[in-house]
Amino acid sequence: MTSVYNRWGVPVILNAAGTLTRLSGGPMRQEVAAAMAEAAGHSVDMAQLQAAAGARIAELTGAQAGYVTPGAAAGLLLGTAAILTGGQRASIARLPEKAPRRREFIVVRSQRNSYDVALRTAGARLREVGLPDRSSGAGVRDADAFEIADAITEDTAAIFYVAGRQAAPPLQEVARVAHEAGLPVLVDAAAQLPPAANLRRFIEEGADLVVFSGGKVIGGPPASGILCGRADLVGAAALQHLDLDVYAALWRPPETLIDADALGGPPRHGIGRALKIGKEQVIGLLTALELFVDEGDAVRHASWLAVVEEIAATLAADGRLIARGISLTLRDRDRIDRIPKLALTVEEADAEVAARLILALEDGSPSVHVDQAEYGSGTIVFNPVALPPGAAQQIAHATLSALG
Ligand SMILES: *Cc1c(COP(=O)(O)O)cnc(C)c1O
Repeated sequence: MTSVYNRWGVPVILNAAGTLTRLSGGPMRQEVAAAMAEAAGHSVDMAQLQAAAGARIAELTGAQAGYVTPGAAAGLLLGTAAILTGGQRASIARLPEKAPRRREFIVVRSQRNSYDVALRTAGARLREVGLPDRSSGAGVRDADAFEIADAITEDTAAIFYVAGRQAAPPLQEVARVAHEAGLPVLVDAAAQLPPAANLRRFIEEGADLVVFSGGKVIGGPPASGILCGRADLVGAAALQHLDLDVYAALWRPPETLIDADALGGPPRHGIGRALKIGKEQVIGLLTALELFVDEGDAVRHASWLAVVEEIAATLAADGRLIARGISLTLRDRDRIDRIPKLALTVEEADAEVAARLILALEDGSPSVHVDQAEYGSGTIVFNPVALPPGAAQQIAHATLSALG
């Protein structure tokens, strides 16, 4: 199993950190890997493959149209390019050196994050609104919809919204002020699954374009994602992503994806051409998406819970933890719409002790990577999503040995 990595001298890790890109995501299900291997043995017309994928994504999301991107961040870039150019050939050719004048994307200040470089890469300028004083503890508020409405000018191209449990104001209110001004809303929902119902939620709440990561809980290839929403915008995104090294007279893109007659001919390669996706990724994403929907939140949650409960039980059975004042907490055990996790807080919640434990786990054999987000408050977190079957005992024993 690990020989392909052994050959290149790269250690295989146990990833209890979640589907992080820097840790290569999780192991793909056998069915997904097999479908990708089969896909690799044939050639297809990529536009036809994308049209077929888009039809299925549209069914599952309730959107007018869908498209497979090489990741959610790529979906943000393509969606931004679609909004900025409107699928116009001349605008596509000018991007990003000369973005149209309407290039501002309004974003709530508390929703700014490192992934929004994807929007800026496509030529958007972010304009922040709101005063998230709840973040500093100096107040209780974030942004209000009226502040978004007030920031709209003739340079505004869209509203950018990063979905999340803390996201404010509610998406419906943002969509209302955007649509009153005739502007689209682009939603980053990369990590908003589970619950599976969120595949439909943001479109229902008024989003014009939504991106999801394919390499997170959907379980597709790490370089896969979904862009879905309004058919004209998805078509404009496709137009800037597909390979367009074609003769105008011989170009016949699928009608469901691209309205070739309205265009008057193929544009040049767009900004998205650098974000190539392979047929294997498209098939892998589709296969994983079907399995994700079929499995359902309850079954998925139960299998994750079994993993963290087994780690917890094995750790708790070792008397040293209690003796040293180390505590274990199972989180979201009863929330099937969330990922259950095991938190381990070291003695006196000491950040340095937690950091040493994290590094000892990484240096162990097998090497175990955990969620580091709370190490500053002395807690390490075990996330079951990217673990291979049967890893719980190995993780528990690696932790006991790292604790010394
Ligand atoms: C993970 C994530 C992304 C990037 O997703 P990829 O599929 O890795 O490109 C973008 N935005 C947010 C909020 C994320 O959590």
